[in-house]
Amino acid sequence: MVTEGHAILAVGGRPPSGRIARCLLASAPVPPLLLAVDFDGTITARDTLQVIVEEFGARGVWDELEPRLQAGEITIEEAMRQQFAAVTATTDEALAAVRREAPIRPGFERFVSWADRAGHRLTILSAGFRTVIDAVFADAGITGLEIRSNDIAFSREGARLVWADRGEICEHCGRRCKRHDLALRHAPDQHVVYVGDGISDRCASAQADTVFARASLAEHLEREGRQHIPFEDFHDVVSYLERLQPRAA
Ligand SMILES: [Mg+2]
Ligand SMILES: [Zn+2]
Repeated sequence: MVTEGHAILAVGGRPPSGRIARCLLASAPVPPLLLAVDFDGTITARDTLQVIVEEFGARGVWDELEPRLQAGEITIEEAMRQQFAAVTATTDEALAAVRREAPIRPGFERFVSWADRAGHRLTILSAGFRTVIDAVFADAGITGLEIRSNDIAFSREGARLVWADRGEICEHCGRRCKRHDLALRHAPDQHVVYVGDGISDRCASAQADTVFARASLAEHLEREGRQHIPFEDFHDVVSYLERLQPRAA
């Protein structure tokens, strides 16, 4: 599980264990990883939903919802529905704010090409909006990524959310969560790397062998006593993962 990834990094600590670690010791190519990456606040420096709500939403809505969300009193879906019903912007206006306020985190383009060259499967699992995600990637010249997300229809009368089908209610968290999306992509015995920052990453990241976490996800994992690797940008992530594959082409 998560400890496998950490054992590899723990140079001078206890010996590496697990399939990936054995490959490292043998200097053999590592089997393709499943790299599951959150979008908002993970790939982008700021959460694009928060940017849009701050700029176009009703004042104070988020301040009222956020503590109730953190306390588990309302679901993310309900909080999002309420926030975005009050967002009165066109698609162009919303995307302009995102472009200004939520740039891609450094190293992400490098991470995408590294994963491509090494033959790893990269999948973006987002609780956010496809319209926004596509625009951010198009600006960065990034194409062809596998993306799983919700979507949004912006309008001056208030935005309407379009939910993705996330299967049955998750037995672990009681929501339709990213765990379902992750399980659909997970080949048997494949080593899963999860990269995330928020509440919507909690459940799925528990399924991963190696977790990179920042912000509230990192705090959550800290409280739960679960191992994770802190990161600031995707150069950090690539540098760590390259150590899993010493003979990468
Ligand atoms: Mg996020
Ligand atoms: Zn779940």
